[in-house]
Amino acid sequence: MTTSLTAIKTQRPTGFVEKRPLERYAAPAKPSLVGLSREALSASLARVGVPERQRRMRVQQIWHWLYLRGAQNFDEMTTLSKDLRAELARHFTLDRPAVAAEQISIDGTRKWLLRLPGEHGDAPHEVECVYIPETDRGTLCISSQVGCTLNCSFCHTGTQRLVRNLTAAEIASQVVLARDRLNDWQRVAAPAGSEPEKRLVSNIVMMGMGEPLYNFEAVRDGLAVVADGDGLSISKRRITLSTSGVVPNIARAGAEIGSMLAVSLHAVTDELRDELVPLNRKYPIRELLEACRNYPGLSNARRITFEYVMLKGVNDSLADAKALVRLLKGIPAKINLIPFNPWPGTKYECSDWEQIEKFSEVVFDAGYASPVRTPRGRDILAACGQLKSATEKLSARERLALRAMAVTD
Ligand code: SAH
Ligand code: SF4
Repeated sequence: MTTSLTAIKTQRPTGFVEKRPLERYAAPAKPSLVGLSREALSASLARVGVPERQRRMRVQQIWHWLYLRGAQNFDEMTTLSKDLRAELARHFTLDRPAVAAEQISIDGTRKWLLRLPGEHGDAPHEVECVYIPETDRGTLCISSQVGCTLNCSFCHTGTQRLVRNLTAAEIASQVVLARDRLNDWQRVAAPAGSEPEKRLVSNIVMMGMGEPLYNFEAVRDGLAVVADGDGLSISKRRITLSTSGVVPNIARAGAEIGSMLAVSLHAVTDELRDELVPLNRKYPIRELLEACRNYPGLSNARRITFEYVMLKGVNDSLADAKALVRLLKGIPAKINLIPFNPWPGTKYECSDWEQIEKFSEVVFDAGYASPVRTPRGRDILAACGQLKSATEKLSARERLALRAMAVTD
């Protein structure tokens, strides 16, 4: 590794400390078409000499095979001529991100460690993607960055040094990969007028590794592929983007992405939030909530989710709960209480269950739905904030410590 890849910390005048993105995406010699937008597909076809007058139709056909049928081989694309299929296979692949490891939790949660190309022959980069089956839905938690440039004190991902932004195609291809692994593709064309088949992956949360609003364009373009009604077709109402509070990009997300919004609030005073979510020093609570108030399309049916991690003795008093409901007054909001998921080396503990219940009651009595997020996949380190790819592997000792924590929880 070159010295440019070493983590460099920059001290901002505000006191906000951010790690710089360190690496860039390096395209492989023979690129994959998977995850590309219509525009990018069209440009790829242009490069291999498909005449302009044919491109629109060809893109439409390829789109169908890529995102409705999940084709893994150009030969499956029977609406294209044999010659074109052969030409495409000469220049492109249909590769998905490679699965370096798959883990299945005792609760059915699945975690995939995905391997993405590194820079200039360096070691590959790894991100995690988690599938959480529930009775009425199946939620895929996808990543936007390798690691995260921010360092929230309670988050495992934030301790990972190596950082790069995922490309739009890498973001969308996590959904393609999940559909492959779960056998969740439409195999035959649905008869006209019939209800679309129910899909295992019905919802997306951008709550994996990384801060999505610090990789704005790629997240926007990747989610547009995911939401496209002729393909993967997961509507924007079923996509939730979670941010730690990158205020200037919240309005932009409303205008250009249009998904549901979740905000990682976690504290009711700037003093505490500065410590838990250091980005708060740059964008304090008042500015963050102002941006939330102005998020387009809010109504009682379309609320912002405020995430609040329950940290024992830190932010979990009933006075905090009361301050929380005061703070959110006037914003169509849901409050999602997240039991803290421990990781090796953390100084925090999860609040006691009785305390979480009392906190939740205060929130509920103030008129908010206050679901407590059931921790899923803790045994495989797949729960919120536990994601940290093997780019920095856990030592055997850390793994044992973690297992002990999961058992005593
Ligand atoms: N970077 C974005 C999205 C990824 S984190 C964000 O911060 O919002 C997804 C959610 O998990 C966030 O609400 C985050 O604060 C929370 N989280 C992080 N570490 C956690 C932990 N150890 N236990 C519980 N929740 C955690
Ligand atoms: Fe990054 Fe979100 Fe973790 Fe904070 S909580 S370090 S923003 S991934």
